[in-house]
Amino acid sequence: MFYPLHTLYLQKIIFQMKSLFPDSLPDRLRKHLEKANRIAILSHINPDGDSIGASLALYLALDSHGFPAEVVVPNGIPAFLSWLPGCEKAIVAEKNPEKAVETVRNAEVLFFIDFSELNRLEMLEDAARQNTGAYRVLIDHHPGPTINAALVISDTTVSSTAELMFTFISMLFPDESLAENIAAALYTGVMTDTGGFSHNIRRPETFRITAELLKTGIDQDEIHSKVYDNFTVTRMKLLGYALHQKMKILPEYHTGYIVLTHDELTSFHFQPGDTEGFVNLPLSVQGIRFSALFLEKEDHIKISFRSKGSFAVNEFSKRYFHGGGHVNAAGGESRDSLGQTLKDFENKIRDHADEI
Ligand code: 5GP
Ligand code: MN
Repeated sequence: MFYPLHTLYLQKIIFQMKSLFPDSLPDRLRKHLEKANRIAILSHINPDGDSIGASLALYLALDSHGFPAEVVVPNGIPAFLSWLPGCEKAIVAEKNPEKAVETVRNAEVLFFIDFSELNRLEMLEDAARQNTGAYRVLIDHHPGPTINAALVISDTTVSSTAELMFTFISMLFPDESLAENIAAALYTGVMTDTGGFSHNIRRPETFRITAELLKTGIDQDEIHSKVYDNFTVTRMKLLGYALHQKMKILPEYHTGYIVLTHDELTSFHFQPGDTEGFVNLPLSVQGIRFSALFLEKEDHIKISFRSKGSFAVNEFSKRYFHGGGHVNAAGGESRDSLGQTLKDFENKIRDHADEI
């Protein structure tokens, strides 16, 4: 089912977003796309619904017009996203490093989707740096992009990169109807980055764009179910264990956090994506405004931070844990032991007690 994009609302949304897009964008970009023999769409490490949804939507839109595009991701796409249209064609660097690096190195157009710093590409970072000849396009909603691109479409007020991608695709192919499979990918991006439309929505346009996606005929109940009702029994048990045994609440600092060791993750047969959403859970406790999740990996501790209100977890993560992200959702890492990392974390909370 198709729905024409040229509605009044849409014109208005595109008009509002126009400040982000240079006047000559569609023509200039199309010129680069038309002469390119290889186009690579890059997503960040530990890809989430937004980076995958926005990347696949762009891939599907370009592919349907005959542009030779490929999606390249550093590591595996979690099972709750693997149903997305086009997912099976993505090149995963962890599984197929040579092909992934070669695709990035030889691309004539490089799209950077849903991240603002090149180190988020991990094992693909060098290949992206080495490819200095490509026309680079950044489409993202994280603050302070540092990626050097000819075209930077970056807005921190949108809910998700998928929302931005909707406008981008509409501008690139203005006379087209939006295909249902593209709408499904974009809807997944908006839905996951807003926690099922529960946070991170600062503009009514997010709902207007979502309405446009729904008009294509996508089944939002089915998409919700595919993403959120697709867990293994061991993941559900890990969730129960994490909440019952591993959640620590520090009421005096309005902080709650969960720690999962490598052995614990292994005993619950951890798969990528299994702990998605865990970091939000302490925020559901009365009075808690800052939460963290510590996952002990082989050689580092992966940390996620979330907050409610003005405490900027991206700054906190950047300052103490080599990370970054959004004001209320960020990530980082530690190379110290788990014990030392937690000690440092609690000390830093004390230092910032008056801000939390
Ligand atoms: P998550 O906690 O879900 O891994 O990440 C939350 C947000 O922070 C996402 O927007 C993600 O892109 C960003 N983020 C996660 N880890 C890092 C990191 O190590 N560095 C930076 N700059 N951003 C991160
Ligand atoms: Mn995002």
